[in-house]
Amino acid sequence: MTMSSTMLESAKNLEIFVPVVVVRKVAEEFEGDVPEERASLLSLPGVRQYVSNAYLSLHIGLRQPIVDSNVVRLYGRFFGFSFDGETRRKKWLLELAAALTLPRIFKDYNYAILDLARKVCKKKPLCPECPLVLRCEYPLRRK
Ligand code: SF4
Repeated sequence: MTMSSTMLESAKNLEIFVPVVVVRKVAEEFEGDVPEERASLLSLPGVRQYVSNAYLSLHIGLRQPIVDSNVVRLYGRFFGFSFDGETRRKKWLLELAAALTLPRIFKDYNYAILDLARKVCKKKPLCPECPLVLRCEYPLRRK
């Protein structure tokens, strides 16, 4: 697949441009198949740890932690550590997340933690509705 300059010009922002570039690279360098190795995935434009781990875990079936900013917030509150926008890229955080992502149920765990972080451990957390409330540091510290 080749991309004309008209197509590139029509990609008005990064949100549109990145997927187009990824599709082109997959088509040209990987013969149309999305690669299944981390290094190759990370070579794709705009693909970083989160996307590569999500793809490897949920589509390829390899045990990988999936950590987005919501999950960092949940872990930070649960364990009682401070966090900011860079925390999700820290090696120690990824190691912690990897240890929590249990073998055999890693896919279910990843879906569950992403869901819980997004829907329950929101910016304004719904602690009384959370299944982790009895073990979580956050409500204890706020008493
Ligand atoms: S108890 Fe509250 S702060 Fe802790 S994980 Fe659940 S929603 Fe988040």
